[in-house]
Amino acid sequence: MPFGYHGRYLRIDVSRGTGEFIPLEEAVLRKFLGGSGLGVHLLLENGAAVADPLSAESTIVFAFSPLVGSSLTTSAKFAVVSRSPLTERINDSLASSGFAIAGKSCGCDAIVIAGRAPELSVVVIDDGLVRMESAEDHRGATCRDTESGLRAHLGASFRIASIGPAGENLVRYATVSHDGRHAGRGGSGAILGAKNIKAIAVRGAQRVKWAHPGEVTELSRDLSKRSLGPATAKYRELGTATNLVTFNRFGALPTRNFQSGTFEGAAELSPEQLAATRAKTRESCVTCTIGCEHIYSLGKTGVRVEYESLFALGSLCGVSDADAVLRASQRCDELGLDTISTGGTIAFAMECAERGWLDSGNAAWLKFGSADALLRAIDLIGARKGIGDLLAEGSRRAAQAIGHGSISIAPQVKGLEIPGYEPRALQTMALGFAVGARGADHNRSGAYEVDFSNKVDRRNVTLDAVRHAIETEDKAAIMDSLIMCKFLRGVFTDFYAESADMLRSVTGWDVTADEMRETARRIVSAKRQFNLLAGWMPEEDTLPDRFLNTALPNDPAASLSRERLDALVAEYHRQRGW
Ligand code: SF4
Repeated sequence: MPFGYHGRYLRIDVSRGTGEFIPLEEAVLRKFLGGSGLGVHLLLENGAAVADPLSAESTIVFAFSPLVGSSLTTSAKFAVVSRSPLTERINDSLASSGFAIAGKSCGCDAIVIAGRAPELSVVVIDDGLVRMESAEDHRGATCRDTESGLRAHLGASFRIASIGPAGENLVRYATVSHDGRHAGRGGSGAILGAKNIKAIAVRGAQRVKWAHPGEVTELSRDLSKRSLGPATAKYRELGTATNLVTFNRFGALPTRNFQSGTFEGAAELSPEQLAATRAKTRESCVTCTIGCEHIYSLGKTGVRVEYESLFALGSLCGVSDADAVLRASQRCDELGLDTISTGGTIAFAMECAERGWLDSGNAAWLKFGSADALLRAIDLIGARKGIGDLLAEGSRRAAQAIGHGSISIAPQVKGLEIPGYEPRALQTMALGFAVGARGADHNRSGAYEVDFSNKVDRRNVTLDAVRHAIETEDKAAIMDSLIMCKFLRGVFTDFYAESADMLRSVTGWDVTADEMRETARRIVSAKRQFNLLAGWMPEEDTLPDRFLNTALPNDPAASLSRERLDALVAEYHRQRGW
């Protein structure tokens, strides 16, 4: 068995309730590391690129990493990788905490799930032994209630990943949830729902060995110390919510379905204002020293507040009522809905209703700025009732059904709703969105960082921006495969060399910075290979018409022509060698 790994994955056929361990060659682990990289490799090996994501033939991978179980800060993470039911392209979503450690302790580097259970079920993996139990008692339960109910029944030492009602109802952007955190984007929850899997429960006692335990301890100590420095102060002190005010100042805060880059209600959703009127606590994922999670009180409960949820359920829908936005975020968590796609799809529907493109008897209540409409729409989506059945399909499919050319204002790329970065004001990010393997995505491309640096003119980028965009995508491929939290990225002084050091201390491999760069490109290429097999076409690498040739109303200098985006995309493909 290689150091840092178990050297095998657990393949579970939920149709029959059986599991078998399949060896993983050390050469494969070295090439794809873990997390997203290993997940994509296993999907390719299992022929998952062509199967309908919501069919019994689809495959979903929960992949751990060589660092899971170590004391390296932020390393308790897992990737959920599949063909997305929303985009039908590759989807890799990451989540944190005890499920990663307990899952790897079952004696495997990944769990691969195929088939469809005959009834709503829980997959129980007890130290590597697989069994299925009925989950009928948990049908319709929220993610949190499912987790607590199953731990009460199975034992507190189990860690649970589950879906909420949205996953059961096959909402195409349903999440997989664990401990209040989510593998959020791309609809992994709908895949489990289609497989009749309500939850996966794991516990185990199988530990891997580190090649150089002393070095692992030394590197952990050093990284933890640096993780408390200025590079992460923003996340520790205010959390990601602080972006809302900053982006508004830059005219880059998506508002009312991307009709503007400034929101008059931004101050009401700022972390300072949220903290002024309600109690706040901080939490961390397991093994994390940073603790970016800011929980704000809402009645007798607390809500984890992040920028992406505030923007998507706040400014994007024109809602400035902070209580309503927190309640909407909480409701999405309970139902198991991706907040970005939920807010994006509702905002799109609000604009369609405003333009008279939706049946007025059915949708006249869908109005920008209406907290009631926001909350009502979320519940309808989770239950797939009324107009919620259409919106549960995501903005691209909804636009195809609505017609009127509404696809031009559907806020999506490859079907994935655009996160909180106005593409016209942040044009390196616009390129990152256009070429993203899983669609518009700020986690697989960190190109917005380039826009906020002095490397480019963010409202008028040239072809020089392409190499920077590629660099952020490559680094993300390593962080998502090793796996480490993105909020650490500012802490590294030489990212590839330090990543190589961590991997070497854990595995004993004589890995170098250059090898890590090569590995990053290999993982990005594997995603590309998956998408080609899944039917990718060149015209997918673009943005909706709304963003092209029309300047941002609040900032006439923020304009991106179709020709310029096409040239950036072509240069991206050229530099990738595709
Ligand atoms: S920085 Fe935040 S998201 Fe990242 S591991 Fe720590 S608590 Fe989790």
